[in-house]
Amino acid sequence: MSKINIEDLNFEDTSIAFASKSDDELTVAYNLFRIFQSEFLVTVGSRLTEIAFKIGLPISYPVKLTLFEQFCGGETIAICKKPIARLGEFNVDTILDYGAEAKEDEEELELTARFLISNLQLAEDDPDINIISGKITGLIRFEILEKVSAEEELSAEEEKEWIDGKNRVLRVSQVASDCGISIYYDAEESWIQPAIDEVVMENMGMFNCERPIIFTTVQLYRHDRLVYLKEVHESAKNQGFILAVKLVRGAYMEKERNRAKEKNYESPIQKDKESTDRDYDLALEYCIENIKEIAICNATHNQDSCYHLAKLVSEKGIALDHKHIFSAQLYGMSDHLSFNLAKFGFNVAKYMPYGPVKEVIPYLIRRAKENSSINGQMGRELALIKKEMIRRNLI
Ligand SMILES: Cc1cc2nc3c(=O)[nH]c(=O)nc-3n(C[C@H](O)[C@H](O)[C@H](O)COP(=O)(O)OP(=O)(O)OC[C@H]3O[C@@H](n4cnc5c(N)ncnc54)[C@H](O)[C@@H]3O)c2cc1C
Repeated sequence: MSKINIEDLNFEDTSIAFASKSDDELTVAYNLFRIFQSEFLVTVGSRLTEIAFKIGLPISYPVKLTLFEQFCGGETIAICKKPIARLGEFNVDTILDYGAEAKEDEEELELTARFLISNLQLAEDDPDINIISGKITGLIRFEILEKVSAEEELSAEEEKEWIDGKNRVLRVSQVASDCGISIYYDAEESWIQPAIDEVVMENMGMFNCERPIIFTTVQLYRHDRLVYLKEVHESAKNQGFILAVKLVRGAYMEKERNRAKEKNYESPIQKDKESTDRDYDLALEYCIENIKEIAICNATHNQDSCYHLAKLVSEKGIALDHKHIFSAQLYGMSDHLSFNLAKFGFNVAKYMPYGPVKEVIPYLIRRAKENSSINGQMGRELALIKKEMIRRNLI
């Protein structure tokens, strides 16, 4: 069992962070993140990309060479094999993420289920993939999830859709269990989350009796989720299964606040960033305190949260590679956390989206906006890439 001396954990070591990148790849990343520094270019570029795709202009190629190359594994799983193996060389696992967003018709929902199932089967034969991720909105129609969450009465047809959708999720989870590969179900908007929680917790009860296969996601930017985490832990304990949870801060803050304002209800979002950070820390502490009964994924790009987890693990004398503790970052971002944590001995994985360029455009635009300049400050990613470029005498 390897133990940690927290002082030795150094996230500033860019030679480890970017060891997997060639000089050319690093230069491409540097130029891309420099473009992100212009809020104007990101806003206009994002809008033009959306419009161009809608009206069928041939812009796949430039998007593919830039954003797609940085943040996605490839258009097909076969193409992803190379970056997956590359991460594996540095003890970083892959969480395969079919990048398609919410689906509306039965045929598309079925197709997503088939993709997830084939990913699970592929992962079974690949030692570098132990986890895949999925969105419940890819398997059950949004409107059905919204109605169930609001406890609205469903028509006979909708009731059938709800049951078919739940069976679709069950089919995917069953394959995950058969293959021994975990599946992380994302958290989404608060007005569909009660239905997502119901389905995911039901699946967890069925498949997590011996090991953490089905993971739910808890968003700590919501002020009610720390209490929820403790409630589901109690319920898992009573029913005798392992609670498996991916902790995130949350991705839909603006949308949540706008909807609450528009519809005149109390926003589910914390009053400020400090409150989100406080609950995130408390959630980590609670999970580590109960690590025999809870499996966690610390899914964050926040360096303090990574230190916090390391500190908790060190204080408790828990093995770094404990089978209930994982860390995850998105592919193409925060390599300084992923590669340094992995080198230190933690279980680390990168969320790797893949799929046709057209399907992953909304995801890519979110990444560009997330990395664009705030108050003219140099972004964290760019600063690190620049440091490594200087270290290699490339600039
Ligand atoms: C591997 C992985 C998986 C993910 N899966 C999901 C998922 O399933 N569902 C999901 O919703 N998101 C998911 N995310 C995104 C995540 O929720 C965050 O949006 C993103 O990671 C940024 O938060 P952070 O912890 O990395 O760091 P930070 O940069 O420290 O935090 C930024 C986050 O803090 C919160 N915040 C910022 N300002 C305020 C404010 N004024 N008041 C209150 N809160 C504030 C917001 O959540 C914001 O995104 C995932 C992220 C990763 C890395």
